[in-house]
Amino acid sequence: MADRSAAEVARAVNARETSAVETLEAAYARIAERDGAIGAYLALTQDLARARAERVDAAVREGKRLPLAGVPLAVKDNMCLEGTPTTCASKILDGWIAPYTATAVQRLIDAGAVPLGKTNLDEFAMGSSCENSALGKTANPWDRSRVPGGSSGGSVAAVAAGEATLALGSDTGGSIREPAAFCGVVGFKPTYGRVSRYGLIAFASSLDQIGPIAQTVEDAALAYDLMAGKDPLDATTVDREVEPAAAGLRDDLRGVRVGIVKEFGLDKLEPDVRACYEQAYDDLRKLGAEFVEVGLPTADYGVATYYLIAPAECSSNLARFDGMRYGLRVEGPDVGATYEATRAAGFGDEVKRRILIGTYALSSGYYDAYYVRAQKARTLIAADFAKAFEACDVIACPAAASPAFAFNAKADPVSMYLMDYYTIPMSLAGLPSLSVPCGYVTPAGSDKPLPLGLELSAPLFAERALLGIAHAYERGTGHARAKQIPTLADAVSAR
Ligand code: GLN
Repeated sequence: MADRSAAEVARAVNARETSAVETLEAAYARIAERDGAIGAYLALTQDLARARAERVDAAVREGKRLPLAGVPLAVKDNMCLEGTPTTCASKILDGWIAPYTATAVQRLIDAGAVPLGKTNLDEFAMGSSCENSALGKTANPWDRSRVPGGSSGGSVAAVAAGEATLALGSDTGGSIREPAAFCGVVGFKPTYGRVSRYGLIAFASSLDQIGPIAQTVEDAALAYDLMAGKDPLDATTVDREVEPAAAGLRDDLRGVRVGIVKEFGLDKLEPDVRACYEQAYDDLRKLGAEFVEVGLPTADYGVATYYLIAPAECSSNLARFDGMRYGLRVEGPDVGATYEATRAAGFGDEVKRRILIGTYALSSGYYDAYYVRAQKARTLIAADFAKAFEACDVIACPAAASPAFAFNAKADPVSMYLMDYYTIPMSLAGLPSLSVPCGYVTPAGSDKPLPLGLELSAPLFAERALLGIAHAYERGTGHARAKQIPTLADAVSAR
């Protein structure tokens, strides 16, 4: 069961070929066997999982059919799950127990999914490698000397290693798509406002969005259909009908116009990576897609724009962690000193850097020069996309410029920030965007193939079309499930 897709697990549990409890046991056996070497999970929620699985089995016995019956689910540890610790991989939330469950998580549980545990991330989702976690290290299942990507690295590694069937991640500037590309799974960020953020601990509220991580596009569509839609508990969710994406999956690309971005020319990439993306474009063409060149002249400003807006919002959102209400408290002689001591001890370097940058960008005298200008640039980037989508249905580009890199390879913050060059512009424009596996490269001197991801992005609210196109590509090429990870046996023996 541990290697089946969510659709297959749900079908088998609904048909009573297996039970949710048996499926859960298989998932925990897999975690016990592999997670010592991978480190995807920060905590397992065994009692809750067992209770949920038993309820699913009881419902099925009563004749109910649940769309995610018994599907083992991993949840990024910046989403609340009632009664369980929620850490954001930060020391500052040490000991904090979530008093309620995030809407997106609850909707999947209501559909029959069984939450296995909470997964590792970069502290407060700030990072692209999972190396900023204060609580542990997650390895890339394809090559354990490399990062899984971030910030949803634990969720993505769990799905890649067969330690979860489905996972939730959050994406602010690329945190679902970049790690999905690095680990060879499907990662999907819906339109901003499509999926409730209630119960997602805020990083940058105008950008944060929850999305599914899965082995297949079909599974991502299934989960999206269940999560999407208005939530009275999140005023930024959009009250607009959700067109079921799982019903719109297609097998060819006839009549689809694929936009290739002039400014994202593949000539900047290493030759083997470039060849892989050329092949991916060719495969889209063979499936019937027409190609058009589009321009995104302001996309190059994406990273600079994002690294003003996201830190500005983070400096405001993270002000609540001061030792008074949540988690860690380091007592000082007075209230001010307690704030200082708590925040100094509780936050890691990258989080502090962002709070400082954000506070600076918002301070009087600098606000217009930095924050307001960044907002103007954001508007221009969104306008560029709107214009590009007059000529195409979907934009195709790399999800990242390289495959997964080695631990400690991106020591200076800017080189890490640049990892999101291809994902940030779509986030700033609020667009739905995903990464689907598109091939493998084997670095010189290594015998381990590493996956690459093709990023596909669509106009606002065009999730159904986007997932349909990604499905045709996945079916047409078979990359998504083409390879068993060759090094996993080795991961097991290395425990
Ligand atoms: N890597 C980007 C950052 O560090 C994006 C993170 C995210 O999407 N949460 O902010």
